[in-house]
Amino acid sequence: MKILVVGGGGREHAIVRALARSRHAPELFCAPGNAGIAAEAERLPDVAAEDPGEIVAAAKEHAVDLVVIGPEAPLVQGVVDALEDAGVAAFGPSVAAAKLEGSKAFAKEVMEEAGVPTASHTLLRSPEEALEGLARTSFPAVLKADGLAAGKGVIICGSEAEALEALDVFFTERRFGANMAVVMEEFLEGEELSLLALCDGENVVPLAPAQDYKRIFDEDKGPNTGGMGSYSPVSGFGAAEVEEIVDAVHRPVVAAMAKRGHPFHGVLYAGLMIGPDGPKVLEFNARFGDPETQAVLPRLRSDLVDLCFASREPGGLAGVEAEFSDDWAVTVVLASAGYPASSSKGDPISGLEDAAALAEVTHAGTARDGDETVTAGGRVLNVTGLGATPAEARDRAYDAASRIEFDGMQMRSDVAARAVKRVAAASNQSP
Ligand code: AMP
Repeated sequence: MKILVVGGGGREHAIVRALARSRHAPELFCAPGNAGIAAEAERLPDVAAEDPGEIVAAAKEHAVDLVVIGPEAPLVQGVVDALEDAGVAAFGPSVAAAKLEGSKAFAKEVMEEAGVPTASHTLLRSPEEALEGLARTSFPAVLKADGLAAGKGVIICGSEAEALEALDVFFTERRFGANMAVVMEEFLEGEELSLLALCDGENVVPLAPAQDYKRIFDEDKGPNTGGMGSYSPVSGFGAAEVEEIVDAVHRPVVAAMAKRGHPFHGVLYAGLMIGPDGPKVLEFNARFGDPETQAVLPRLRSDLVDLCFASREPGGLAGVEAEFSDDWAVTVVLASAGYPASSSKGDPISGLEDAAALAEVTHAGTARDGDETVTAGGRVLNVTGLGATPAEARDRAYDAASRIEFDGMQMRSDVAARAVKRVAAASNQSP
C-alpha cells in the first residue's frame, strides 16, 4: 500500500509516524515534507501542497492508494475534491465541508442551525458596520478574521481603543486579506479544550482530548501563535465527558452538514471553551490540529490507515472506536528567533540525536544545509515526551528539549504544568 501525506510541518511528521505503525506497513510519500520527514517517507519537495493539479499528478505518478491531507489550505483549495474526482482516495473534507474552518461566519451559521453552543456574535462586513457594532458591544470583545489566518487572526480587545486599533489591522492594513469580513464575538471565560473527532459524513468517533498553548510566552502572555505546546489526555475529560461534548457539538454539526448535502469526512476539530454553562465552540478546524496531533497520535493504538479509509466511506465508522494508550504525552514546540512576528532561517540545529533518544522529535520548519540540519521557519521542532504520569511525560519532553540548541531558540517552560499540578492534587486527595 502507498500513502501520500500532504503538508510539511510537525503535524504531518506525526501523521507519517502514526501511518508507519499500521499493520498495512505502507510505503509513505510526503509533499512537500521537511528535513525530518525525509528520513521516514519519500519526500516530494517540489510538489506544492496547495495546488490540486500538482497533488493529483503526484498521487497518480506514484500510484498511491490514499492521500492524507494535513493542513487547511489544500482543503480549502479543493485538493480532496480534485483527488476524488480523479479516482484517488483522499482523507479530508471537500471544499464545501471544509468551509467550517475556511469561514468563521459560515461555521456560526451551521452552529446556529444545529443548536450548537457558541459565543454570540455579530458579522462586520465593512469599517462602517464595524464602528456601529463596536458602539453596541461591551468589552472585552473578540475580533476574528472571517477566513484562514494560520491561527493568528484573532484579536482580544480589552477596550474600545484596542478594538479600534484591531479594526485597522483588519480593514486598513488588510493583514488577513482584502475584503475580509470580521466576526465580533462575546468574550468567553473558562478552560480551553481541543476535541478532535473522525467523521464519515454520518458517524463521529472522538479522539483523545488535548489542550494546547497558543500564546508565545509563559502564563499565556504575548501574541497568539500557531501553537507552542500541547498535552493529552486532559484531567476531568474522560470517556463520559467526551461523549457528552461530541453529542452536543460534533454530532449535530455533522448532521447539519449532511442535511445541507455536504457531508463532512475527515477530522472535525472543535476548539472549545468549557465555562460555567458547559462547553461552547470557539472555532472549528477541518483537519488534525497542530501541535495537538503531536501529543494525540503517539498515544493512538488503533490503526490510523484503517481509520482514514473508514472515514472516507459513508457510514464506514459505524461501531468503530479509536483506542488510546494510558500514557500521557506532552509536546513542547521549539520556535525560531522572532516568531511569531517573523522567523529566522538557516540557523544550525544541534542535539537532535540526543533528544530523539529520550522523546519523539518531529520536525516542523527544518531544512538540510550540507551535513547540517538548520532552521527553516517559525515553529522549528516539536518534542513529545511520553510517560505514565503527566510529570514523567513533561520531564521527558523538557529533558529532551534541553539537549537541542539553535540561535534564538524560543520555548515555553510551562507546557502541561497545569496537568502535573492537577493530577498531583487529585492523588493527594485520594486515600
Ligand atoms: P480561535 O482561532 O478562534 O480558536 O482563537 C484563538 C484563541 O483565541 C483561542 O484559543 C482562545 O484562546 C482565544 N479566543 C477565541 N475566541 C474567544 C472567545 N470568544 N472568548 C475568549 N477567548 C477566545
